[in-house]
Amino acid sequence: MGVYKCRAGLIWSLLFAIIITVVPKYWELRIESIPPLIPPPPAINTVPKTEIVEDTIQKNRTLVATLVDYEVPVAIANEIADLIKPVFDVRKLRFGNPFRLEKESDGTLKKFEYKIDDESVLKIQKASDAYEAKVEKLDLETRESTITAEIHSSLWEALGDLPKREYLATELAQIFQWQVDFSTEIQPGDQIRLMVEEAVHDGNFVKYGKIHAAELVNAGRRYRGFLFKDSYYDEKGVSLKGAMLASPLKFTPRVSSGFTSRRMHPILGTERAHLATDYAAPAGSPVVAVANGVVTFAGWDGGYGNLVRIRHSSGLTSGYAHLSHVTPGIRAGRAIKQSELIGLVGQTGLATGPHLHFMMTKNGTPINPVPALKKGAPAPPIEGRIKAEFADVVAPMQAKLDEIDASSPALTVAHR
Ligand SMILES: [Zn+2]
Repeated sequence: MGVYKCRAGLIWSLLFAIIITVVPKYWELRIESIPPLIPPPPAINTVPKTEIVEDTIQKNRTLVATLVDYEVPVAIANEIADLIKPVFDVRKLRFGNPFRLEKESDGTLKKFEYKIDDESVLKIQKASDAYEAKVEKLDLETRESTITAEIHSSLWEALGDLPKREYLATELAQIFQWQVDFSTEIQPGDQIRLMVEEAVHDGNFVKYGKIHAAELVNAGRRYRGFLFKDSYYDEKGVSLKGAMLASPLKFTPRVSSGFTSRRMHPILGTERAHLATDYAAPAGSPVVAVANGVVTFAGWDGGYGNLVRIRHSSGLTSGYAHLSHVTPGIRAGRAIKQSELIGLVGQTGLATGPHLHFMMTKNGTPINPVPALKKGAPAPPIEGRIKAEFADVVAPMQAKLDEIDASSPALTVAHR
């Protein structure tokens, strides 16, 4: 029995060895002998010629019309218009923006690229059978740029024809918001110096990045701010950010009525104290909390219309009246953070036009909000181990600002 079993095993292994060595060889032969599946192209069939068109979008031409103008079949043009819907709103196609299309001589579109703006391109490409659409961001390089300006009438005017000057004006106002109230204190002769990052594409300006250093000479006083770990500090490492915002509006145009104990009320016609600051601002402008605190009142209060009152530290409160509406969720007892949106400028209650009636009290007594806001205590200074790092970052920027100041004849203002 044992011998038979052994011999049978030997025969089986032999057979198995033959199978695994011979069968693959046979398959290889088979594969080699199979003729190619795709027949070679007939000699008369020439490669389709690609045509490239570069142009700009014409006035009142839709995307479909533009494609059809360049002999892309209507069906394909419509298919493409449908395809890009999820990535780009075709109604935003802008007159004068450049595009580039590649098509074959039979009209088949291979590629279509349209420059949406300075930062993005719409790309449509034929991938095997179907078209694909996507919006691609351009590769941007950054460079440092220096801007200097003198204010004659307004910050806006001083920035002249700089591209995206509204960004610079807003950023600058935010950097120094605890030092200077840009809505009331900027005056002719004030000076601005900025070291700002610029994003460029093919050498052309696209947008501004962060402001690395800023200098403002306001009424003969010089303020400097340096960006360090996402915050602005002065040269000594003191945070520019105070505990109070300089105003409850992000970028306020002006104070229309100051704090006074006697004033003619515009609606009631009687003489009344105006224990508040009125900020003229368009209806719908965001109103923010000037400091951290706790909401003590949010809702309708007679002549004040929609009103929010906040209790802060040091016995201070702030009140925001005539709001078009209060931000949902803002209610008495809720903690609130500085710069948090509490409502929008309106003219509810007794108000002749949209404005923010802004009140503050100290230990229960009304106080003039403008100087009170200015007193916001600064955040703790830079200390210990990061001091050296701060010096390394700030020193070159400071040297650069010194250099600009030295070469500026107008800066006598700063040393007055
Ligand atoms: Zn008022």
